[in-house]
Amino acid sequence: MDNNNLPRVAYFCMEYGLHPDFKAYAGGLGILAGDHLKGAKDLNLPLVGIGLKWKQGYTDQLIDENGKAYDTYHNYEYDFMQDTGVKVTVKIRDIDVVCKVWKLEEFGNNPLYLLDTDIPENGDNWITGQLYGWFGEERIAQEIVLGIGGVKALRALDIPIDVYHFNEGHAALAATELIKEKMQSGFSFEESWNKTCEEVVFTTHTPIVEGNESHEVSKLEYMGAFNGLTRQQMIRFGGEPFNMTVAGLRLSRKANAVAQLHSLTANKMWKTIAGRSEIIGITNGIHKPTWVDARITNAYENNGDLWANHIIVKKELIGFIKERTGAELDADKLLIGFSRRAAPYKRSDLIFTKEEIISPLLKSGKVQIVFSGKAHPLDDIGKEIVAKLVRMMKKYPNSVVFLENYDMNIGRMLTRGSDIWLNNPRRPLEASGTSGMKAAMNGVLNCSILDGWWPEACNDGVNGWQFGDGLGLDDLPEVELDKHDTQALYDTLINRVMATYYENREKWVEMMKESIKTTSYEFSVERMLDEYYNKMYIK
Ligand SMILES: *Cc1c(COP(=O)(O)O)cnc(C)c1O
Repeated sequence: MDNNNLPRVAYFCMEYGLHPDFKAYAGGLGILAGDHLKGAKDLNLPLVGIGLKWKQGYTDQLIDENGKAYDTYHNYEYDFMQDTGVKVTVKIRDIDVVCKVWKLEEFGNNPLYLLDTDIPENGDNWITGQLYGWFGEERIAQEIVLGIGGVKALRALDIPIDVYHFNEGHAALAATELIKEKMQSGFSFEESWNKTCEEVVFTTHTPIVEGNESHEVSKLEYMGAFNGLTRQQMIRFGGEPFNMTVAGLRLSRKANAVAQLHSLTANKMWKTIAGRSEIIGITNGIHKPTWVDARITNAYENNGDLWANHIIVKKELIGFIKERTGAELDADKLLIGFSRRAAPYKRSDLIFTKEEIISPLLKSGKVQIVFSGKAHPLDDIGKEIVAKLVRMMKKYPNSVVFLENYDMNIGRMLTRGSDIWLNNPRRPLEASGTSGMKAAMNGVLNCSILDGWWPEACNDGVNGWQFGDGLGLDDLPEVELDKHDTQALYDTLINRVMATYYENREKWVEMMKESIKTTSYEFSVERMLDEYYNKMYIK
């Protein structure tokens, strides 16, 4: 790419996962955003990030002595942020809220500008308190600060922008500010809407209907989210109730889903929305220097001993697990890694469905599993899933481990040091699944349902395994699907994964090489950014 003539992009996101010590992310969305900014830096691309400076970030989720997950929050202070000297004001509930703008470039990322309401000028300083915390009104206030405040911050910082990238619907209110600016310089509402669409691109993330946030229109009005526009105009964007994803689709010139299968799902999901932008697929990618162990890359590239290096990294993970939990795993036995948000469709406990099958394998230690993952703080069903995993840890103390408080650090350790990376969502509800990419590039073999990114990468039995044959919710009712996938998981695990691991090490190492070879560029942030520029940002 010729970087001098590239459009200048402002990337808006509610969360950023840039470093384990910077508590500004909850999960995959934030990790993707952090990697986007790091990739942009590596490639010297004209792109800045806009986000919020969270006081507490997301929950620290720990396990109590009864095996129950509970949430704790701490106030964090950071010394790695620069004060830009810029403040902007947004109106929330008819009160002026001042947002201080910080700049962060500490983690090998392009500039990230973070808005902060926790300053003495504000009576209401709770807005940037907890990432995804509390309820509807707070969320709307956060979205006003991110979207409307974000555009105002770019103006006050004097950063010229050609393309506004709304990463997820959280940022959709930014469009009200872009429209308002144009109306103030004399354009009609319709003209301003059209012109705004021309400069906005939008990424949709979740195939779970409830994950696509919506708000009562009257609540938006009360909070001040109309930003001078009328009720009828707002409803034309987001419908009634006002859906943030629908608004994103109607306020952009182009939209994308985060894997090819996800683009099919998203197009189906939003089929009936009139006046929406086209949804293409741009599969996520990861920032290799963040996620891939240099020893593994070296061994692979220089024909070194890949297995020996894998064992070194695996032993580091085993040491980390011992430190955290006291459990002692065996480096000579198969280690399955699994970490996902604890939500029912991810089926974290699927492997325990038939204990008569899995129990002997766990007791003999031939199968060891390390789990991690948080439940959403308000999700009791998710917390019950965590409790079940913890019960299994107590029952099989030498072969099942649950690591509390999943974060980037745990994510890094698990996707390097496991032998296989298991993923068994109900297809097609996993949008992308970047943890599998991290694993693949570390030579950790994916063993996964054909969902998210995996159908694009999987060469079954060559660079990893698929199970479940690509069946999904459209083919079978949930109960039948779960039954089918459980059987498929056991078949694959026992007859293919374990057989190869314990009886054909040479083939295993061949598969590791194949995994690294077939994913390292295809699922890198470089490839992803190339596509964002060529298919979304450049007109
Ligand atoms: C990579 C990563 C994710 C995203 O992975 P998924 O495959 O989408 O679950 C989430 N959280 C952390 C801490 C990660 O490192």
